Order: sequence, then structure tokens, then C-alpha cells
Amino acid sequence: MKKILVTGGAGFIGSHLCEKLLNGGNYVICLDNFFTGKKDNIKHLISNKNFELVEHDIVKDYFTEVNQIYNLACPASPVAYQYNPINTIKTCVLGTLNMLELAKKNDARILQSSTSEIYGNPIMHPQKEEYWGNVNPIGIRSCYDEGKRCAETLMMDFHRQNKVDIRIIRIFNTYGPNMDINDGRVVSNFIVQALQDKDITIYGDGSQTRSFCYVSDLIDGIIKMMNNEFDFIGPVNLGNPSERTILDFAKLIIELTNSKSKIVYKNLPQDDPIKRKPDISLAKEKLKWEPKVDIKDGLAKTIEYFDKKLKENN
Ligand code: NAD
Ligand code: UDP
Repeated sequence: MKKILVTGGAGFIGSHLCEKLLNGGNYVICLDNFFTGKKDNIKHLISNKNFELVEHDIVKDYFTEVNQIYNLACPASPVAYQYNPINTIKTCVLGTLNMLELAKKNDARILQSSTSEIYGNPIMHPQKEEYWGNVNPIGIRSCYDEGKRCAETLMMDFHRQNKVDIRIIRIFNTYGPNMDINDGRVVSNFIVQALQDKDITIYGDGSQTRSFCYVSDLIDGIIKMMNNEFDFIGPVNLGNPSERTILDFAKLIIELTNSKSKIVYKNLPQDDPIKRKPDISLAKEKLKWEPKVDIKDGLAKTIEYFDKKLKENN
């Protein structure tokens, strides 16, 4: 039985990962400071004897005996990571440094959840791993973008200098149940607005694009990357290449929820990437991985989840 640490395990992606790893017969330590994560996301796992919950901030030292570390701890929504930008960059840099030290002490493999944001507002489209990006180092998104870029650097330097066994994934926009209702990301905002027949808030003119991946597809890719045995350390893009404009996405949500919501337009936030689509050739070749879930099926499950949450809140 492997002993696996999942930082950020009470968050959206982390909670799905903890569940899948437990179901795979592992011992799972879920570490979280509950900044954006929720006990609700993992409450069904608490009674499992192979599950341990640790309340801790990865910016501070931590020691446990582990075989693998999935480093997911970090707020991912622009609203959440811009709330306390200094904490965000500390989590990315000092937090990753602490997890790398932990991996080194344990001789454990560590996977870093990086992001498509390291490409910034990309000039290469779709984005391939060899692209170095177009990132504003001093803007409101920089705490996250530059923090995650520095975390990748730390991963590579620990690998080269200390022979730490690493894996780096670059996650593109992912959605599904367990996203926080007030998370501020486009998927949760639009669905929650549509279910309540409230105005759908498009930032800018809605011509910017994103490519949305359902969470179960992503989890399969993450676990494949962690366990590949051909020394493929990445970075590797994990996401769904099916690209759409935010305006089309709003219309799709209105259709799938049978909503009476109207679309309203708000200011586009600073440095909001104009287009984003992963090139996943490398993941296909090295991991034999590609997403399978159709957007309408994934959204149906996500809408059902938010509908239930809204009813519980009322
Ligand atoms: P999330 O906000 O739901 O989860 C992040 C979790 O990390 C939360 O439970 C939060 O409480 C915890 N956390 C934050 N700072 C911490 C700290 N200092 N110490 C301990 N725990 C801390 O976000 P998510 O969507 O589940 O994202 C998980 C990871 O995936 C993040 O690293 C994020 O950068 C990356 N990612 C996500 C997406 C996406 O579309 N969801 C895209 C790219 C990258
Ligand atoms: N967005 C929007 N309305 C919202 C929330 C987000 O139009 O209520 C836009 C946002 O400006 C961006 C895209 O949707 O262009 C995706 O935003 P999100 O915050 O989900 O993630 P990002 O990909 O920007 O990190």
C-alpha cells in the first residue's frame, strides 16, 4: 500500500483525487489549510481508515513519511488568488519548496500541479509545452502566474541538483462537482447565475476563448502522469482541446439549464488571456491519455451538483 500526500486535498480537484487514490487501495493524507477548500468535499472520506486529514499551511514546514506527493495546494480561481496575492505567491514558491524538501527527505516522487497560466496571454496557439509564454510579471495575475512558473523552476532544480523524482503537469480549465459555489470562476458563476435566472456576467465582449476539461478526465491524466515509469517528468499539458468562446459558453449554459437569464457585459479584468487551448499531443504520445467526457455530459453533472447545493443553502 502506498502512502500518498495530497496537498490541497479538500479543494475541487484535490477532493476527487483523494477519493480516486483511496479507491485504488492507497493510504491518503489530505493536507489543507481550508483557504478555498471545504470539509464538505471530503466528509464522505473521513470514516475510511486509510484516510487522514491534516489541517496545515504548506508555507510552513511539514514532515510525514510518504511515498508520493501530489502538490495541489494553491487557490486556483482568479478571485481567490488575487484576494491575498502575497499569500498566493508564498504558497506557490515557499509551499512548493517545503514539499520538495519533504520529497527529498523521503526519497518520494512529487507531482506539481502547474497551470496553463504559465503561458500568460499566449501568442502561440494552441499552446505546446515548449512555448515559454507571454506573462506580465507585475500585473494582478502575476502572483499566480509567476508563482507557478517559479514552482516549475524549483521542481527542475531539485531534480537536476538533488535528483528528486519529479512530475510536472500543466492543467487547463477544469470543471465539475465540488467547485465552490462562490469560487468566482466562469463555470460556477454562469451555472449558479443561470439556475437562479440571474444575469449572466460576461467579462469583456465574450470573444475570449477557453477549453474546458471535465474533472474525471483530468484525474485520470494526473494519476497516469504520477505513475508513468518511463522517466517522463513533463511538463505535460492536461486539458480538453475543445475550444469555445465565453459567449458561446454562456449560451450553452442557458440552454442546458432552461434558464430565463439575460446576458450582461462587464469590464474585462486586466491581463485576462484572449485565447487558450491545450495542444495535448505530448500527453497522447507519452501517457496514452486524452479526455473522453463530452462537455454536455460533464456540464449536466455539474449543473445537478450546483442545483443541489443551492437548494441546501436555501
Ligand atoms: P481549489 O481552490 O478548489 O483548491 C485548492 C486547495 O488548496 C484548497 O483546498 C485550498 O484550501 C488549499 N490551499 C490553498 N493554499 C494552501 C496552503 N498554503 N496550504 C495548504 N492548503 C492550501 O482549486 P482547484 O481548482 O482544485 O486547483 C487545485 C490545483 O490545480 C491548484 O494548484 C491549481 O493551481 C491547479 N490548477 C487548477 C485548474 C482548474 O481549472 N481547476 C487549472 C490550472 C491549475
Ligand atoms: N469570466 C466571465 N464571467 C464570469 C467569470 C469569468 O466572463 O463571471 C471570464 C473571464 O474573464 C475569463 C474566462 O471567463 O475570460 C475564464 O475565467 P475563469 O475565472 O474561469 O478562469 P481563467 O481561465 O481566466 O483563469
